[in-house]
Amino acid sequence: MRANENIPRLLLWLPAHDMVHTLIDLTQLLDTNIPVFPGDPPFSSRPFSSVSRDGYSVHALSCSSHAGTHIDAPAHFLVDGATVDQLPLSTFILPALVLDVSHKKARECIAWDSVVPVADRIRPGTAVLFRTGWSRYWGCSNTATATTRPSSTPGSRQPTAHHYFDHPWLAVDVAEQLLALGVRVVGTDTMNPDQSPSHVSAVVGGDGGGDSGTEGEGEPLSDFGFHMAILGAGGIIVENLTNLDLLQAAQDAAEPDTEVIVSLLPLKIAGCDGTPIRAVAWLQHRGSMS
Ligand SMILES: [Zn+2]
Repeated sequence: MRANENIPRLLLWLPAHDMVHTLIDLTQLLDTNIPVFPGDPPFSSRPFSSVSRDGYSVHALSCSSHAGTHIDAPAHFLVDGATVDQLPLSTFILPALVLDVSHKKARECIAWDSVVPVADRIRPGTAVLFRTGWSRYWGCSNTATATTRPSSTPGSRQPTAHHYFDHPWLAVDVAEQLLALGVRVVGTDTMNPDQSPSHVSAVVGGDGGGDSGTEGEGEPLSDFGFHMAILGAGGIIVENLTNLDLLQAAQDAAEPDTEVIVSLLPLKIAGCDGTPIRAVAWLQHRGSMS
């Protein structure tokens, strides 16, 4: 693969077989401040025992099955849909293509006409990852006034030009066209491929229901058309990805005989509709997956 000076410190090197893979971490950090869908349980990781007191350290973890960077299995929206433990491992390690839709604005629809110019690069069995750039607002979701904070405000982890919930969203026709092209894995660097509720309702009005659930008081439920199309076809959705700009730079710099591979392996939780994942990507020689 060709070295790219623009891809840097976030990358790790590790030897594998007879070549060196550069791993790109596509995973958001899990901590107590992460944005969650209105009504979903918060993430928590608290000390349960400690080296100083007990001689060993253990933490108690608690979270939604859709915390942080995670996958949605078909069971997320379908009563008889496959759960994470039922999906074959080959679902989760596959070639990927990053599509740049970072020109889209807050709450703007991404329709198929945005994808058409690169549609000839989409091959059956590819994971299509939409880079909206919204991962940079990951920390901008914990108060209703996040969009008005100056970037220098203490405690504000990111510049606050937009709220994380106000991401662009994918139209159902994109799901239908991707499915027709043989795509079954779709990822995004937002909390939701469909529209998310307004951040005001998320803060003051969320009262349960999870990704498929209830929004703020008096507001209509979200339309989960993209979810329904992909999960209904037995596919999976990956949400809250990050570093897709780095992955796109690697993709653009790749030699023709190399391809991007992603690993999206879920925790093996019985009967669960989703799980947090550690998403990573690398370049490797084309065809060496088989
Ligand atoms: Zn989810």
